[in-house]
Amino acid sequence: MAAPKPIRRAWKFCPRCGTAVARTGRNPFRCGACGFSHYFAPVAAVGSILTDSAGQVLLLVRAKDPGKGLYGLPGGFVDAGETIEQALRREVLEEIGLQVRSHHYLASFPNEYAWNGFVLPVTDVFFVVEVESFADMRAVDGEITGWKFCRPGRRELNRMAFLSNRLALELYLQQTRAK
Ligand SMILES: [Zn+2]
Repeated sequence: MAAPKPIRRAWKFCPRCGTAVARTGRNPFRCGACGFSHYFAPVAAVGSILTDSAGQVLLLVRAKDPGKGLYGLPGGFVDAGETIEQALRREVLEEIGLQVRSHHYLASFPNEYAWNGFVLPVTDVFFVVEVESFADMRAVDGEITGWKFCRPGRRELNRMAFLSNRLALELYLQQTRAK
């Protein structure tokens, strides 16, 4: 399978006037015929580091590509008109059926989301999250096939679907390491 290309390479015609692009891949996209322009800026996404009462981190097993069968953190893309915090609460609820009680900012990392042959630039924003209870936890929207609570080690970190998730976990583990 060919390596996925940056999403800007998919723009072969001006979406405003339909003129064919002489050379794809430029950022910003600029149409010489009508002047239309578009910046391929990253989209925002959230990720949660969710721990149980023993301080073990929740890793989800991804049901779908990208990263099918690998580990991910609860989260997803921010919708238009939504705050990052609203997206965090919504994604945790939609994905595993849990209510966020509190959250605090951890860090952000750039990410790339490869899909259908193209790569979308993403800015992942990570939070350390506490939930009301794990009692109702379930795979809600079919995005996961299972989960695991653990103190992630090399084995788990090597099986993260996204580098950004791994970097966030490593930062969290470093910050919470027993002194
Ligand atoms: Zn145009």
